[in-house]
Amino acid sequence: MEEEQEYLFKIVVIGDSAVGKSNLLSRFARDEFDHNSKATIGVEFQTQVVEVDGKEIKAQVWDTAGQERFRAVTSAYYRGAVGALIVYDITRSTTFDNIKRWLDELNTHCDTTVARMLVGNKCDLENIRDVSVEDGKNLAEEEGLFFIETSALDSTNVKTAFEIVIREIYKNLSRKVL
Ligand code: GDP
Ligand code: MG
Repeated sequence: MEEEQEYLFKIVVIGDSAVGKSNLLSRFARDEFDHNSKATIGVEFQTQVVEVDGKEIKAQVWDTAGQERFRAVTSAYYRGAVGALIVYDITRSTTFDNIKRWLDELNTHCDTTVARMLVGNKCDLENIRDVSVEDGKNLAEEEGLFFIETSALDSTNVKTAFEIVIREIYKNLSRKVL
C-alpha cells in the first residue's frame, strides 16, 4: 500500500525592521502588497502550496511580525525551520551590514542544513540604491547562501525566491531519505 507523503516545510523570514519581510510574505501567499503595513507584535505564519517534481509541498512561512524591532525574536520562531530568507533593503546599507548578526542568530537556533537565501528587497528603488548587486553576491558567496534581489512592490522575483528555497529543502530531504 502506498501512502501519499505530506510535505510541510517551515520557512522563516528574518532581517531588520521595515526591509519588507511582511510584504514579501503577503506577495508570496496572497499576491498582495500593503502600503501601510503595520508591525503587529506576535508571530504569524501563512501557508502556501507549491508544486515541486509533481509533489505538493506546503510552505509554512513565518513572519517575525514586529518582534525584530526589539531584537526579541524568540527561539520558538526558529524551532523546526528548514529554510530561511534573510532580508535586507537595497536602499539602506545598515540593513545589509546587519545581515551577519541575523546569520549569527540563525546559527544559534538552527543547524547548517537550513536552506538559506539572502534577499535584497526593494529593487524597484534603483534610483536610491545604497547596496550594490555585487556586494550582495559577494556576501552570499562568502556565507554559502543563495542570492536574489526582489521587489514585493512590483512582484519581481518574490515567487522565485521562495521556490528556490523550497526546491533546495526538497533536495536535501531526498538526499536524507535515499
Ligand atoms: P517588515 O518590517 O520587514 O515586515 O517590512 P514591511 O513589509 O512592513 O515593509 C516596510 C515598508 O517598506 C512599508 O512601507 C512597505 O510599503 C515598504 N516596502 C516593502 N517592500 C517593498 C518593496 O519591494 N519596494 C518598495 N518600494 N517598498 C517596499
Ligand atoms: Mg513585518
